[in-house]
Amino acid sequence: MSRDPVRRPEIVVDLGAIRRNVGRLRDLVTPDGADVMVVVKADGYGHGIVESAGAARAAGAPWLGVATIEEALLLREAGDTGRILCWLTVPGDDWAGAVDRGVDVTAYSLAELEEVRAAVTGTPARLQLKVDTGLSRGGSTAQDWPALVAAARAGEADGTWRVTGIWSHFACSDEPEHPANQRQEAAFRDALEGAARAGLRPEVRHLANSAAALLRPSSRLDLVRCGIASYGLDPAPGLSPQIGLEPAMSVTAPLVLAKRVPAGAGVSYGHTWTAPGETGLGLVPLGYGDGVPRHAGNTAEVWLGGVRRPIRGRICMDQFLVDLGEDEAVPGDEVVLFGSGAAGEPTADDWARACGTIHYEIVTRMGGRLRRRFVPEGAA
Ligand SMILES: *Cc1c(COP(=O)(O)O)cnc(C)c1O
Repeated sequence: MSRDPVRRPEIVVDLGAIRRNVGRLRDLVTPDGADVMVVVKADGYGHGIVESAGAARAAGAPWLGVATIEEALLLREAGDTGRILCWLTVPGDDWAGAVDRGVDVTAYSLAELEEVRAAVTGTPARLQLKVDTGLSRGGSTAQDWPALVAAARAGEADGTWRVTGIWSHFACSDEPEHPANQRQEAAFRDALEGAARAGLRPEVRHLANSAAALLRPSSRLDLVRCGIASYGLDPAPGLSPQIGLEPAMSVTAPLVLAKRVPAGAGVSYGHTWTAPGETGLGLVPLGYGDGVPRHAGNTAEVWLGGVRRPIRGRICMDQFLVDLGEDEAVPGDEVVLFGSGAAGEPTADDWARACGTIHYEIVTRMGGRLRRRFVPEGAA
């Protein structure tokens, strides 16, 4: 029997899934007058920033969101000409590059306004302001907000920039009953009123991430910033309305070796697992050097031959072992670490639970020597 050529270990990204997810998110929020900013920071949560951005644009996303100016400029280099917002800068960053390329930059403080002012040479900058409504991360405090909006208005009046957006970010949106959500939304509305009194008329006001977009319609405003849901992962598993999100990432590798070990065999470094009876072991050529969490040792499962198989012993830098029991397997057999779950394989969420983390971290960290393959091929 001829077999398909064996594939190298790879991250398979279903760009059609990203496109459909973004379409579903847009269908959900556009009746409220909102639209979707697809967040593609951190290399598209591990899915590839340029390709994920392309899928988002193909679904009609009017905005992309990234953390750094560098990420925004990378998208411009790749040919993206649409609206892009970035929000995390350090002093001395390439603000001028962002302003020149029409990227919306975010200021948290008067000091950052000065950086933007220094970066403007011709066309007014597109500037958004972030208010901290209770995450205590970036953004102006409520106390500093009146001075920030006044200075921002002055810069608008002298032609330095246009204030295109005002925004904030939730701390607990994946816990819809958490009282902080209501408090933050009220604080955001206060901040918007303050900005309006100062004379600011932003194009977009936005607060919601994926979880809030799904669970808190009152927070949708003009725009929702969806990262994780765009990649098909449920931001609040068990709580979110089911809108048919499809996980876009699978991680697969061919089996290196299958062999039988006797009862009492110690498996992998430190012998944290010992075979209770004779069993088959399969060697998988991926490890923490490729982003496989070391915490997956003895807890996570993989898919091989139509069955979930437990990982045995520690994850090494380049390899780990799975229990085959009495089943036959041969080198080259496909091992799926995680995927959409449609065939019964583990999901990124299953891995997250096994490892004591969140699926955001599982998909974002996969990399190292893994290569990415985009489906459909050549769609990037
Ligand atoms: C990462 C990020 C998002 C996206 O959050 P998800 O939970 O992935 O939807 C939205 N806004 C900001 C400011 C972020 O940093």
